[in-house]
Amino acid sequence: MALVVQKYGGSSVADASCIKRVAQRIVATKKAGNDVTVIVSAMGDTTDELLDLAEQVSPLPPGRELDMLLTSGERISMALLAMAIANLGYEARSFTGSQAGVITNSTHGKARIIDVTPSRIREALDRGHIAIVAGFQGVSQDTKDITTLGRGGSDTTAVALAAALDADVCEIYTDVDGIFTADPRIVPTARKIPKVSYDEMMEMAACGAKILHLRCVEYARRFALPIHVRSSFSTREGTWVVSDPYTEGTEMEQPIISGVAHDRSEAKITVVGVPDKVGEAAAIFKTLAGAEINIDMIVQNVSAAATGRTDISFTLPTADSSTALTALKRMQGEIAFESLLFDDQIGKVSLIGAGMRSHPGVTATFFAALADAGVNIEMISTSEIRISVIVDQDDVDVAVAAAHRAFELDADQVEAVVYGGSGR
Ligand code: ASP
Ligand code: MG
Repeated sequence: MALVVQKYGGSSVADASCIKRVAQRIVATKKAGNDVTVIVSAMGDTTDELLDLAEQVSPLPPGRELDMLLTSGERISMALLAMAIANLGYEARSFTGSQAGVITNSTHGKARIIDVTPSRIREALDRGHIAIVAGFQGVSQDTKDITTLGRGGSDTTAVALAAALDADVCEIYTDVDGIFTADPRIVPTARKIPKVSYDEMMEMAACGAKILHLRCVEYARRFALPIHVRSSFSTREGTWVVSDPYTEGTEMEQPIISGVAHDRSEAKITVVGVPDKVGEAAAIFKTLAGAEINIDMIVQNVSAAATGRTDISFTLPTADSSTALTALKRMQGEIAFESLLFDDQIGKVSLIGAGMRSHPGVTATFFAALADAGVNIEMISTSEIRISVIVDQDDVDVAVAAAHRAFELDADQVEAVVYGGSGR
């Protein structure tokens, strides 16, 4: 008997009929002789709707209360799913993140899991029940308050529980058939990737591929837990995320580029006229770190000889930009920069592939493709297996399609079916 952990995203449980369909799928897995633990997201766009509602009553809701509000979304779907399963004659028990033993730190809105103690889930499984767990949430070890893991955090709940329960596989159900070489909503000829490494998947997740949460992939890599990303709307084999997709008994050849990811959720801040002396950059980034802001790309210009001053630009999640601007303004006296510029009309386009390590010319091909498409590059950053550029937000779609074409990733016919989801 295997232990299967399944996670169903918001679009898979968007309404009552979706929930009934998912219940049938879960029961089928149970009937096949497996122990089943299910993690659910909030129905459809519930989380966004709750956020909108919060904004209507307060421009800056307290983190504790926002987490209390947002976690209610997952509680609705877990209870409804348990009812739907009971209606099929099977025993299901729903649990909040806290009841399931998901222990986090106390950073509201982006809490980190520090321990998972799933004794109640074990007990439920031992009794032959199907355990349903609310994703995206936990309880803080010190404050005992309810926390959330950040947008898309149910994936992380699923992998963390799967690891703690020593599950055989973690299946992540979504509204597309797996991970594609680009977002099929932008590139209809994107191809399904059969297997991808944790490292490549982490880069894709960090670069805006919304299909898996970055922390979930980090977690899976740490425990070498295989993830199977597939659609809840079909029975097709999806994408396997594993340690080494190119040696594990496949004849699959390593592609140079595995995929093209894009991200519209970042903004750019430029600190203008920073005195070009030791410790200035450290002071800026210490300020931002103190405000718990994750920086992505950084560019420092050469200082102008005449002024002895330089500009430092960096990108960050748009959602964090007002916190960052406020923190920097507070330090203006100490750092003695001249001014701050802010641009949220940017987008990031990234090329990801472990194969680029051993293939020269990838950057040249990428930049030539962007130039041919008339796209201007504002910032560049690279890792061993990734090249990212910042472009104007309006150019993102064109840039993704151009890169996808330049690396011959297009399928001959349309493979991708987007079954649901508003893409919100
Ligand atoms: N419902 C949460 C969100 O929309 C968590 C998740 O879907 O994973 O971000
Ligand atoms: Mg969601």
